[in-house]
Amino acid sequence: MPVLLPYPFPGPFDYRVPPGLHLHAGDVVVVPLNRRDEVGVVWDAPADQSVPDHKLKAVARVLDTPKMGESLRRFVDWMAAYTLSPPGEVLAMALRVVTAAPRTIVRYRRADPVPTVRVTPPRQRVLDALVRQEPLPTSDLLREADVSAAVLRGMVEAGLLVAETVAADAPFVPPDPSHPGPALSDQQQDVAAGLRKAVDDRVFSVILLDGVTGSGKTEVYLEAVAACLRAGRQALVLLPEIALSSQWIHRFRRRFGVTPAVWHSDLSSRVRQVTWQAVAQAKAPVVVGARSALFLPFPDLGLVVVDEEHEAAFKQQDGVVYNARDMAVVRARLSGCPAVLVSATPSLETVANVEAGRYARLRLGSRHGGASMPRVDLIDLRDTPAERGRFLAQPLIQAVQQTLERGEQAMLFLNRRGYAPLTLCRQCGHRMQCPNCTAWLVEHRTRNQLLCHHCGHTIPIPPECPVCAASDSLTPVGPGIERITEEAAQVFPDARRLIMASDTISGPHAAATAAHAIEQRSVDLIIGTQLVAKGWHFPHLTCVGVVDADLGLAGGELRASERTVQLLHQVAGRAGRAEAAGRVILQTFIPDHPVMQALLHGDLDAFMESEAESRRDGEWPPYGRLAALIVSAESAVMADTVARDLGWAAPRGDGVVVLGPAPAPMALLRGRHRRRLLLKVRRDVAVQPILRSWLAAVKVPRGARVDVDVDPISFL
Ligand code: ADP
Ligand code: ZN
Ligand code: ZN
Repeated sequence: MPVLLPYPFPGPFDYRVPPGLHLHAGDVVVVPLNRRDEVGVVWDAPADQSVPDHKLKAVARVLDTPKMGESLRRFVDWMAAYTLSPPGEVLAMALRVVTAAPRTIVRYRRADPVPTVRVTPPRQRVLDALVRQEPLPTSDLLREADVSAAVLRGMVEAGLLVAETVAADAPFVPPDPSHPGPALSDQQQDVAAGLRKAVDDRVFSVILLDGVTGSGKTEVYLEAVAACLRAGRQALVLLPEIALSSQWIHRFRRRFGVTPAVWHSDLSSRVRQVTWQAVAQAKAPVVVGARSALFLPFPDLGLVVVDEEHEAAFKQQDGVVYNARDMAVVRARLSGCPAVLVSATPSLETVANVEAGRYARLRLGSRHGGASMPRVDLIDLRDTPAERGRFLAQPLIQAVQQTLERGEQAMLFLNRRGYAPLTLCRQCGHRMQCPNCTAWLVEHRTRNQLLCHHCGHTIPIPPECPVCAASDSLTPVGPGIERITEEAAQVFPDARRLIMASDTISGPHAAATAAHAIEQRSVDLIIGTQLVAKGWHFPHLTCVGVVDADLGLAGGELRASERTVQLLHQVAGRAGRAEAAGRVILQTFIPDHPVMQALLHGDLDAFMESEAESRRDGEWPPYGRLAALIVSAESAVMADTVARDLGWAAPRGDGVVVLGPAPAPMALLRGRHRRRLLLKVRRDVAVQPILRSWLAAVKVPRGARVDVDVDPISFL
């Protein structure tokens, strides 16, 4: 009997079925492997038959857990073949949680009425957490409120909290599709009807739902979720940063009266187990999750939504390299249900699929409730520079000042963490570099450290130059978000500032607290990295300043322009989402660049068309296909040897081009030497067979490896 194990073997292994045991494809079983017990899944692909029958080991037992359904098994196989990964490595992502769920869990609610007892700050945090979501199981509440179990016990004794013990395998109250939602506008209703029909048709289709930021895309696709619930099937919504999406959960609750099941890497293992079991038993009708939610064992998936489909965060770069947006479409196809891709700035891939007639498109034309799109201005830093050593030009300072004086909120955006991206010795010109990576060390002044953003290497900020020993000669070059915060403190001393970057907002609790503070207007000025671009709705935020609009264009990668337009348009979309008109100011040295002009005139369609044009000629994606081979090795010589061998074995043929080998832009990463080759083929040529025979032709020595990235989006 073939059993697939969650390890990078080439395929399933054969096991003997002991008498009395009846096994079927999808059963989760325990089998011996190298004298250990391992959990695997009975597979339907033929196993390696090289071991004679009498030597086969026997299946030990079947786990009392739902079997892995046909559509998920086909998904694992499909994804393994597409990404050139061993199927077991893909299976591992679907099998992380299989042990039986605990029988009961304890959940907490706030007492009603509330007794008049002393509420200490830790107790207040508990109550606040329950305001955001109620009830919460013990582990979640402890984490959300950052308190000890003793605090909860004390609150129960004081009558502030009610503890209830519930069966662990039915934790999700089904969302109620007829719970009253907002009254949709005519246009929203039309689009919602289109989505509902796709769900009711119960067949595979892909729909691009686009519309400007604030047009109500979320409200509209929640109608598709409602239709899916009415049809008795399960819905999956993928968000790029679900751990930080407290506002989304809140919206869902407003629409359906309950919270959905949530899936991301930040969950406690108990919550994972419970959720996994509930999904497998169809007791979690809606799951909102990060890309890993694609591997949950839905028995009856009726809808997949990918919100912010253009986001690079959907691409997993480690292990099995895949784009969750594309794999969501595959999962929908194998489940016979629609996939809805949602974005105000859809990717060129998706737009090309619409134009080729493969995807349908539904569009919301304007912001909801008459809110207008923000006005965009450019500041040409060539003739209006910031003061020496500063980064905010006068017109931007004035705009923020006026906003603050009106009692509205402003935001400064710079997509760079830390204080300064480069530290330079003024005496000898030495640049502080990471010893393990081709990268500068980034100063993080609040931590008094220089930090590599690629490998995590840190050193204390040295008192003198490590090369020429000059003291006080090390100088920060360029701004990071901490430096902008410092400048803002001098320029806007009275503004209450909040920094939103992954260093300061590191989990669901911190993100929810920050969002809450902004909504409650206890913050005037938000200073953030790309974290602030993601789908937030802040009604009092009316002015957004982009400190360095050119940042993403350096390096000239294939998608640099597209991504910069998407990111800056999303950032700009945070402004003026309610009654008050919004204003966006971009600081740039290249105001005539097509990216700046597209943002200035709000004309993304024209920009995307010219972008498409420029890729069509060279048959770059989406008009051609790419796959990258990344060679990495302990020594530069070994990396060169393997790269050269790959170069010699490079495939040839009509519509097939190989670029490289060349040193990767990150020629050194985490201490490994890297070389790249890029395979570019015509759209009608499949890359996988070419890659397979190419890789088979080259022997990779110990200490070196070749990683495959099909449809790469990063070329570092
Ligand atoms: P998008 O996802 O397109 O950016 P949202 O769905 O976030 O837009 O909608 C923007 C804001 O407008 C949200 O606060 C949302 O609740 C509100 N909104 C959208 N449509 C309606 C409606 N029909 N009635 C009431 N509020 C709405
Ligand atoms: Zn020096
Ligand atoms: Zn490094």
